[in-house]
Amino acid sequence: MKIPTGLFVDGTWREATGGGRTPLVNPATEEVLAHVSAASVADVEAAVASAQAAWESGWRDLAPGRRAAVLYQVALSLRANVDELGRLEQSQVGKPIADARDEAGLAARVFEYYAGAISQFGGQTLPVGRGGFDFTLKQSMGVVAAIVPWNFPLPIAAWKAAPALAAGNAVVLKPASISPLTALRMAELATEAGLPPGVLQVLPGSGGVVGDALVTHPKVRKVSFTGSTEVGRHIMRLAAGNLTRVSLELGGKSPNIVFADADWEKAADSSPMSVFANTGQDCCARSRMFVERPVFERFVERFVAATRRLVVGDPSLESTQLGPMASAAQRDVVESFLADARSRGSTFACGGSRPGGRGFYLEPTVLLGVGSSDRCWREEIFGPVVAIVPFDDEAAMLREVNDSPYGLSGSIWTRDLSRALRVSRAVESGVLSINCHNSVHVEAPFGGFKTSGLGRDLGMAAMEGYTETKNVFVNA
Ligand code: NAD
Repeated sequence: MKIPTGLFVDGTWREATGGGRTPLVNPATEEVLAHVSAASVADVEAAVASAQAAWESGWRDLAPGRRAAVLYQVALSLRANVDELGRLEQSQVGKPIADARDEAGLAARVFEYYAGAISQFGGQTLPVGRGGFDFTLKQSMGVVAAIVPWNFPLPIAAWKAAPALAAGNAVVLKPASISPLTALRMAELATEAGLPPGVLQVLPGSGGVVGDALVTHPKVRKVSFTGSTEVGRHIMRLAAGNLTRVSLELGGKSPNIVFADADWEKAADSSPMSVFANTGQDCCARSRMFVERPVFERFVERFVAATRRLVVGDPSLESTQLGPMASAAQRDVVESFLADARSRGSTFACGGSRPGGRGFYLEPTVLLGVGSSDRCWREEIFGPVVAIVPFDDEAAMLREVNDSPYGLSGSIWTRDLSRALRVSRAVESGVLSINCHNSVHVEAPFGGFKTSGLGRDLGMAAMEGYTETKNVFVNA
């Protein structure tokens, strides 16, 4: 497996100006995996100039069918390389190999979807009633900066790049500093598959340097960010200078609501992975569980048993369900939450410790008796920790569900269709699942209410977000 270590600019590899490098650590072994070039402000200038030139000189004006054909080739190439992409992802963030391979397949599917979406996306004719003919054009914006996190490095890179490219923009993508490898390889594969040089660049490096330089660059017309709410706020403030368009996919504290009439056994068996998958480093993690009182004790017993059965270990093994946390720093953050829960007297039904040995592992942890003002209840933990509380009254439970600054995702378990619909209208969140935990569908809009974000990824909504609308009136 070749490890990419350069910047990918103008369809080729180059070293960072100034020679900066970032060490990457394999979180399962704690060994240094590679030293990857860290872009400087001068590299941002070069990448934006190259993207602007590639956009002006052809990509924006390419016939839609030709653009679609290129994106189909990118999808094919990603699909042909899911094993390699999966291994790169596993080694940089500790993701179990089976999941990493699936996510590479998802990235391919995203390119495939947007290749098809190109022919379905366009403006409207409008009945303006002034003796003429009125129509709208959906036009590309120019250079789009995509800034992505480390928890799903490849899928999120794809679900920013693919719709932006499909809409005719050029993209400069900044991966998280600890997880640049799969985005770099994706850009190389895309170029080999026929994407013109300069249309997609990848600049590894620090958020404060590369991210800020991209967000404030006058030629960057749109910033598409996924990451923490705190950095999202910072980006929105920076973008205000040039009134650069932003879309923000941010943190979450999603509820998982189980009514007593539900198939609660199925809910108990499947819910551990709704919060512990990706070792809890998931913006959609259902980290607040509300279980109706009549089934609470039986539910918790079954949930804990299912949690204990999860296979935690070496992410290179096919059987592993939970790998290590992606970094020592993130494990420290999660342990500070656990210390807080201990100091407040919460009950640890299971987990709470490091299993020992090498790697940034942390046991999946189930907390009971967490208070509604405790940090573990209110803040995004971004690790393998869930708090489960009982409820008696639907309306009071919904007030508690919505008493959160976040509103990204969530699940509702009930056999009563009216209740499912009533509760899904009431929950303040951008994405919900009924009797399951699936939040992400390539064809459907994904994003949050409140401080979970602004704008939507995926589906046609994402294409919309990478265009400007122009209205044209023809005097007849
Ligand atoms: P982060 O906010 O620390 O970093 C995200 C990206 O922003 C990285 O590329 C980082 O280098 C960059 N960045 C950091 N500081 C910056 C700055 N000052 N200026 C510009 N860019 C900067 O987030 P993370 O730790 O990588 O990811 C975890 C967070 O992402 C969690 O809060 C999670 O909920 C959120 N997330 C949200 C979604 C979603 O779709 N809503 C999906 C995945 C992750």
